Amino acid sequence: KRLEELTVDTTTCGYCAVGCRFDVYSDGNEVLATRPANPEKTPVNGISTCVKGKFSYGFVNANDRLTKPLVRNENGEFRTASWDEAYERVVEGFEDITDNYGGEALSVIASSKATNEENYLMGKFARQVLGTNTVDNCNRLCHSSTVTGLAKTFGYGAASVSIEDLETTDCYLITGSNTTEAHPVIGTRIKQNVRDGSDLIVFDPREVPIAEYATQYTQVNPGYDAVWINGLIRHIIENDLHDEAFIEERATGFEDMKEAVQEFTPERVEEITGAPAAEIKAAAETIATADTCVFGWALGITEHSHGTENVTALANLAAITGNVGKRGAGVSPFRGQNNVQGGGGDMGPLPDNLPGYQKIENDDVRETFEDAWNCDISADRGYYTTEMFHAADAGELRGMYCIGENPALSEPGKGHGETVLENIDFLVVQDLFLNETAKYADVVLPACSFLEKEGTFTNTDRTVQKVNPVIESRGDSKPDWVILQDLANRLGREWDYENTAEIMEEIRQLTPIYGGITQERVEREGGIQWPCFNLDHPGTQRLYTEAFNTEDGNAHLKPIGYSEPMETPDDTYPLTLTTGRVLYQYHTGTMTHRDEGIMTYNSQNFVEINPETAANYDIADGDPVCIESRRGEITVPAQVTDRVGTDTVFVPMHFAENAVNELTDAERLDPEAKTPEFKVSAVCIRPV
Ligand code: SF4
Repeated sequence: KRLEELTVDTTTCGYCAVGCRFDVYSDGNEVLATRPANPEKTPVNGISTCVKGKFSYGFVNANDRLTKPLVRNENGEFRTASWDEAYERVVEGFEDITDNYGGEALSVIASSKATNEENYLMGKFARQVLGTNTVDNCNRLCHSSTVTGLAKTFGYGAASVSIEDLETTDCYLITGSNTTEAHPVIGTRIKQNVRDGSDLIVFDPREVPIAEYATQYTQVNPGYDAVWINGLIRHIIENDLHDEAFIEERATGFEDMKEAVQEFTPERVEEITGAPAAEIKAAAETIATADTCVFGWALGITEHSHGTENVTALANLAAITGNVGKRGAGVSPFRGQNNVQGGGGDMGPLPDNLPGYQKIENDDVRETFEDAWNCDISADRGYYTTEMFHAADAGELRGMYCIGENPALSEPGKGHGETVLENIDFLVVQDLFLNETAKYADVVLPACSFLEKEGTFTNTDRTVQKVNPVIESRGDSKPDWVILQDLANRLGREWDYENTAEIMEEIRQLTPIYGGITQERVEREGGIQWPCFNLDHPGTQRLYTEAFNTEDGNAHLKPIGYSEPMETPDDTYPLTLTTGRVLYQYHTGTMTHRDEGIMTYNSQNFVEINPETAANYDIADGDPVCIESRRGEITVPAQVTDRVGTDTVFVPMHFAENAVNELTDAERLDPEAKTPEFKVSAVCIRPV
């Protein structure tokens, strides 16, 4: 068909949190083409999208897309069912657990892929309908340590910058972020700015593609990030390169923080992290003398047993160089899933927060939500996702409602997660596909994709953008918010939302940072950045221009000492395994694995091994290699490359077959954020 014969609707990408907007051309059933939307209405991506946003829509009409509910028959096998029957089974299952063990024995895993409106309802459903605070999402596996670290230093657990700052800064420190592959459009903007003369410093155990453009790339040993960041801070202070005026006027805690970094001389940092002392000094001087600097990071910083400390150290570095709250400067955690900022955090499907990061232990906050939702809310936080599996193991959690996530594959220590899912009394999965988690379910409810529903997403720079249906929903599948409403009503509540705009109106009234955000306004203005406190508020392009979001309005610098991974290499397991992403795949692959075109690239798992290490083990490129940790073993082909150091191996996280999470550990968690240590596991390798 010719383009002009097709319908065209504008929506927001459902892959990564860059949040590109594009026009989708369809015949009502199939996505036939996309192109960037009117650049004036899409400040996030302008004229760009990446390969996933352009082409990866095969999943929508995949043969195995769920179009009807599934329930178990008398032999324990799945059969299709009507919505009525499936809902009845869910109600029976939940009521059985509530009657016998109380609502606290139920849990909800909410979805960072679903809209803000749906995530708000997931939190409300947990508290009001089920009576539990155990509701969490994939944010626990990735950026929870970002939220914890930034909240205690600057106030908001979010990027302080806008995409515009990423295009205009004079200097970047990018660390633990494979920006080119995981956030391609942001990667393109950074590379363009570097071509125009900005400095780009990359610290990473793996020479990720963005490092090819770096003015300084420094390879570091995985797991010691706070050490080298403290080394930069020490060198800056030692040489009087810190911003004294900024610290004097806008920060507290400088002296304690300064004292804590004294042990991190460049020589000691080199010894621990492998980063040459000269490179520590050079990076420190480049950052401190630049007019502006953006500090960008992703899961290479956060997915550690001390991820919160890593993030806190980065916040200290940004503050002592005065690089917060001005154009071209600030902190920029690159969020992962399309709506992990909004759905995963802002909307409050969290065990300890209600929408807008309002603390559950605060009596006034609880009272507001108890009045609005007509229910009691406990002041005790529920289990985080990473704790849910241990609680289920101990018999404290009996039921789980898992929406749009795939913990059987994404949780650390895959074998442990699968055993828990197999043994839990009652499991409901709501998804597009019978994914690895759904295989253990008692009831599977077919949901709509982002292309089939309306709502909003919030991207990595806090921009709330509109999501519009561009094709008809498949079979009998329903949007998550409709399923939640149907279930809430069958469980004795009276929800009567006619559309998602009404849900956003309720959010607006209960969530100060979203106080001026309506769907109509988001559509009209193209996007609004929170905090947006009322209908006359323009939104906030850049955080902390005048004050930090702390009680005294200052940045709170925190002393960070030495930390190391909870598992380090030894004679039996002499190498460090680290995990990550590749451009052509997305998370556990439920979407990208169903796209023929995308699967011509990186269609199977692999391990990157340094040439020197490969030679030591007599491994050639393409050879099958067994990788073993204390948790299990996998066998994958070798990619021999000097992208990784001699003591490190790298395996992507996208594949179910020989999944890397067979090797990671469910026990090692950040003590505050409870984020797992995906990025460091001690392993040994051998040719097969
Ligand atoms: Fe989608 Fe991210 Fe690619 Fe943009 S960069 S098109 S948001 S996957």
